[in-house]
Amino acid sequence: MTSTPCCARTAEDLNRVCTIHADRSDCPDAFIAEMNGGYGLMVHDGGSSAVEIAFCPWCGAGLPSMDQ
Ligand SMILES: [Zn+2]
Ligand SMILES: [Zn+2]
Repeated sequence: MTSTPCCARTAEDLNRVCTIHADRSDCPDAFIAEMNGGYGLMVHDGGSSAVEIAFCPWCGAGLPSMDQ
């Protein structure tokens, strides 16, 4: 399921294609991940985890919560 990004900055991050890191979870420039209908802040600890966020870090819009 894909939801509409709240702002251009989020859309840009979600659509960013890095030439160095094929997997977004490996790229320190990637901040946001779509997960289960919500959004998460990617945690670059070597894995692919992300912490759910309720508000956009750029525009402050409320984000949809994940499907539990
Ligand atoms: Zn936003
Ligand atoms: Zn990268």
